[in-house]
Amino acid sequence: MGDSIILEHTVGRKVVYEGIGLHTGRNICITIHPAPPLTGIVFKRSRRFIKESVKASYENISQSVLATTIGFNGTGVSTVEHLLAAFMGCGIDNAIVEVNGPEIPIADGSAISYVKLILDAGIVPQRSSRRFLVIHSTVEVREGDAYLVAKPSPDRSLTIDYSIEFDHPLIGFQSISWSFDSKRFVREIAPARTFGFLKDASILRTKGLALGGSLDNVLVFDNHSLLNPEGFRFTDECVRHKVLDLIGDIMLLGKPVIGHFIIHKGGHRLHHKLLRKILTVLEEVYWEDVKDVVCNFAPPSNRDLFETGVSGYSSSLEFPDSNGSLLK
Ligand SMILES: [Zn+2]
Repeated sequence: MGDSIILEHTVGRKVVYEGIGLHTGRNICITIHPAPPLTGIVFKRSRRFIKESVKASYENISQSVLATTIGFNGTGVSTVEHLLAAFMGCGIDNAIVEVNGPEIPIADGSAISYVKLILDAGIVPQRSSRRFLVIHSTVEVREGDAYLVAKPSPDRSLTIDYSIEFDHPLIGFQSISWSFDSKRFVREIAPARTFGFLKDASILRTKGLALGGSLDNVLVFDNHSLLNPEGFRFTDECVRHKVLDLIGDIMLLGKPVIGHFIIHKGGHRLHHKLLRKILTVLEEVYWEDVKDVVCNFAPPSNRDLFETGVSGYSSSLEFPDSNGSLLK
C-alpha cells in the first residue's frame, strides 16, 4: 500500500484563483495555502481588518439551501462544496483557504478549475497518517420519495450509488454507481457542472441569489431543452454533478469515509441531514488508521485533467499541452 493512501497530504505551494461568485455576482479571490498535518480544511475570511477562521466541518454548516455554507458567527462562506470535492478527489487532507468575499467562486460550475489549481500547487505527502471514518452500521434518512442510506462497505471502499429523477425530457431518471478513485474522480466526476431551470432563475434573482449565474457556469434547462450551446460533457452530467456535491459534503466529516452511500433525489440539505445522523445517531463511530482500505488515492496528474477533454476551465488558467505538461 503506497504513501498516497496511508499518509495525509497538503498542497505544495500557495496558489491563487479569482472568479465570480454564483450568488453575489461579485469577483472573489481565494488563496490556497499548505497547512500542517491534522489541520483539515480551514477557511479564512478576510474583511478589512478582521480575519475569521472556520473549519470545513459538519458542525459549522450554517446553511444548506442551494449550496453548502460554512458559518462564522452570523456570516459565512458559501458554495464551498465544489472546492471541497476537489480537495477530497485529489487526496488533499490539509489546506488553508483564504477568501475575500462571502462565497467561493463558481468557476465553470464544476470542480475542474479547482482540480487544475491543486495540480498546479502540487500534492505533497506529510508525516501524519491518514485516518478514515468507517461506517460500521446502516444510517438512513427518508423524506417523501427521497432516501439516503449510508451502510458498511464490504470491500472497504467508498462507493456511491446515486439516482435522480426530474420531469424533464433531457434528464428524467439518471443513476450512477461510482467507487472512489482519484484519477477517475478527475476524469469522470470533476468536470460535471451544476444545473438549474430557467423557470427558477427569476425567483432566485428576486431573492438576491444566482446574480452571477450564466451559461458559463450553470447548465440551464428551459421546459424542453438545454440552453448551453456547447451541450453536455456527459449524457448523465446532472447525476454526476450530484456525486460531486456529495463528495464535497462528505469532506465535511473531516476525514475520508469508507462506506456505501445509496442516495435517491438527494441535495445539500438532505446530505447534511445524513452526515449529522452518521455522527450523532450512530452509537459507534470508528476513526481508523488504514489497514485494508481499497480507495485509490494515487494522485491524479495533468494527463488525467487533459483527458477529460474539457477545454473550458476558467479563463485565467493555463491549458495542458498534449504531453500533459502546462503551457505557461
Ligand atoms: Zn454543486
